Amino acid sequence: MSAKVSFFKSVEQYIDKAAAYTDIPSGLVEQIKVCNLVLQIRFPIRVGDNYQVIEAYRVQHSHHRLPTKGGIRYSEMVDQDEVMALAALMTYKCALVDVPFGGAKGGIKINPANYTVEQLQNITRRYTTELIKKNFIGPGIDVPAPDYGTGPREMAWILDTYQAFRHGEIDSIGCVTGKPVTQNGIRGRNEATGRGVFYGLRECLSYADDMKKLGLSPGIAGKTMVIQGLGNVGSHTGLISIEEGDVKVIGVAEREGSIYDPNGLDLAKLLQFRKETGSIIGFPGSKHIGGPSAALELECDILVPAALENQITLENADRVKAKIIAEAANGPVTAEADAILRSKGVLVLPDFYINAGGVTVSYFEWLKNLSHHRFGRLENRFQRNIFTGLLNKVEEMTGKQVTQRDRDFLTRGGTEVELVNSGLEDTMTIAYQQVRETWRENPSIPDLRTAAFVCALRKIASDYISMGIFP
Ligand code: NAD
Repeated sequence: MSAKVSFFKSVEQYIDKAAAYTDIPSGLVEQIKVCNLVLQIRFPIRVGDNYQVIEAYRVQHSHHRLPTKGGIRYSEMVDQDEVMALAALMTYKCALVDVPFGGAKGGIKINPANYTVEQLQNITRRYTTELIKKNFIGPGIDVPAPDYGTGPREMAWILDTYQAFRHGEIDSIGCVTGKPVTQNGIRGRNEATGRGVFYGLRECLSYADDMKKLGLSPGIAGKTMVIQGLGNVGSHTGLISIEEGDVKVIGVAEREGSIYDPNGLDLAKLLQFRKETGSIIGFPGSKHIGGPSAALELECDILVPAALENQITLENADRVKAKIIAEAANGPVTAEADAILRSKGVLVLPDFYINAGGVTVSYFEWLKNLSHHRFGRLENRFQRNIFTGLLNKVEEMTGKQVTQRDRDFLTRGGTEVELVNSGLEDTMTIAYQQVRETWRENPSIPDLRTAAFVCALRKIASDYISMGIFP
């Protein structure tokens, strides 16, 4: 196999490999693999006294369910192949975690650091206008979200532009997700991808049999973790894994290099240090061990590449010493590297499963937007009254009293963020169990990634078949 297989091609290869373990007709597999719509966009922006042509894309990979859904990334590495591959991964991701959308992705080929906030706003608004012109955005058509280089701010600009053109459209707030909470977003979305990575890892590590094969004890507590990329996904994965999983983050890589501390880094302090100094290098107690890819080669239980694609390749896969790799970023392990890791016995939790927390909570946000009310608003007080009544009855019947702390806990109604997190936990846990079961039922499936693609393919194929297109 060539070392330079395109990203989209490598996703297609994964599908071909997985399809061999299903009885889906080959023509249907072809339909599932292709991108349904590809939009290339070029528009000018004024920079100083000159003009710059901005290159952008939006790809809707699959219309088997609508709307389509997928993030928008701002990166100099954006090209059509990358956006097509990421859109395809969104289709498989949504199917795997039972989010009823087709996959899509958008990209603008810029380095946001090279533009002022005003210029970024112009670029975002113009891009949105192009999507509106081509009918490529809308709550029932295609719903963007944040990705690499974008966040709630950009999503708020997209919403505002959409609403300016679609004034009075009652569901317009559902045209984009990942919005600020004050702009019809949902609590828990910002950290959702990282939180999902944590839930997925915790579920994976809970199976004693599987961990034994890796030479690990069951349970996430006390495991060592290395993270590449301290952006939205990497930072929340680390913070939540430390706080709720008792994990020790011993290594971190950012653009400026890699640091290591065998005693565990205080990630909250490290994030503050980087904010103040612009770098992770020199963080008290840590050792500077090399460039941005040095941390990938550290000995650890869990490696979390959370920056960009193509980070573990033919070149460095042999030197990776982690036992588990959680692909928090999209496509961080190339297909060739994946084969090497498998031969070394490394367990790879594939991107389209492990980073599905973002789209899952985006789905909750979209549901909230379409229902026009906050989750929990109708039932909170009702539930609290029922639980209080029940507790009072139990105390009366037993003659015993619960502590005030227990009473407060047991009689509270779920807040929005609690409901979102419990929905996310359930989604990530169930999806892992389905993938694991698929693998166990057919031990000739070579790895977890293939098992996950088999699960996703079966669900998508069943949608097509029930549409009657493929009797
Ligand atoms: P982000 O822009 O918030 O963070 C990316 C971080 O990676 C930045 O801090 C950047 O400085 C760092 N980085 C870039 N190149 C690096 C290198 N060579 N070595 C080390 N660090 C490097 O982006 P994000 O939203 O956290 O997305 C990260 C990855 O996760 C992307 O692949 C994205 O597609 C994927 N993802 C994101 C979401 C989401 O909800 N944001 C959801 C699913 C998947």
